Amino acid sequence: MKKMLALALAVLMAVCVFAGCAQEAENVLTMGTNAAFPPYEMVDENNKIIGIDAEIAEAVAAKLGMKLEIKDMAFDSLITAVSSGAIDVALAGMTVTEERKESVNFSDTYATGIQVVIVKEDSEIKTIDDLEGKKIGVQSGTTGDIYCSDSPENGGYGEDAVARYDNGALAVQALANGQVDCVVIDNEPAKAFVAANEGLKILETEFAIEDYAAAIAKENTELLESFNKALSELKAEGKLDEIIGKYIKAE
Ligand code: GLN
Repeated sequence: MKKMLALALAVLMAVCVFAGCAQEAENVLTMGTNAAFPPYEMVDENNKIIGIDAEIAEAVAAKLGMKLEIKDMAFDSLITAVSSGAIDVALAGMTVTEERKESVNFSDTYATGIQVVIVKEDSEIKTIDDLEGKKIGVQSGTTGDIYCSDSPENGGYGEDAVARYDNGALAVQALANGQVDCVVIDNEPAKAFVAANEGLKILETEFAIEDYAAAIAKENTELLESFNKALSELKAEGKLDEIIGKYIKAE
């Protein structure tokens, strides 16, 4: 009887070790994001990164037979992290731009973003035309930052007009404290920030309409192809709409 027990224990241990190894050997897809961009990415009460991008990446990874690992980092270090191979892919409500395309490849787009302007409810800023001479809060390295800090000849307001913050929440806090006159940021996080802070509103006039896509290293064409294939399957299956619909309720 004792022998049988010892044998059973040995088998059990062997299985555990084997399973452990198998898990180690499983392919890992490393995604980078900036988890302060609701509802695309945010941290839940258990410190888990959730949101549209996390779920899309999870679904893509499942299709590729890979295990997803998410790394939280500053938005403006994501492109370098992708091109240096520190992460496999960046999903961060990231807008496809010509400049970024010089450093990384973008997947097919999976969502649309709109740059909007957040102001205090009693602000004298009524439309985008009133931004002239105002202090504009932005999230460092985002398209909102790039447009606004551009020279007036290029449709921007110049470097001095812009105050940069590490994330959108800090920019919105600066607005609430009166350190900036407005914040230019993507519409969905804007809605979330306005809902969470009293006395703020989003201007009706939109700043720019953009496409979101995943960034992948130039040389990793294999992942680009398999990512796009998985993404188009998710679109066809209605899974993509389902994920987006879970976080963004139709108005
Ligand atoms: N869509 C914007 C950009 O790509 C902002 C993204 C973000 O802040 N996560 O620059």
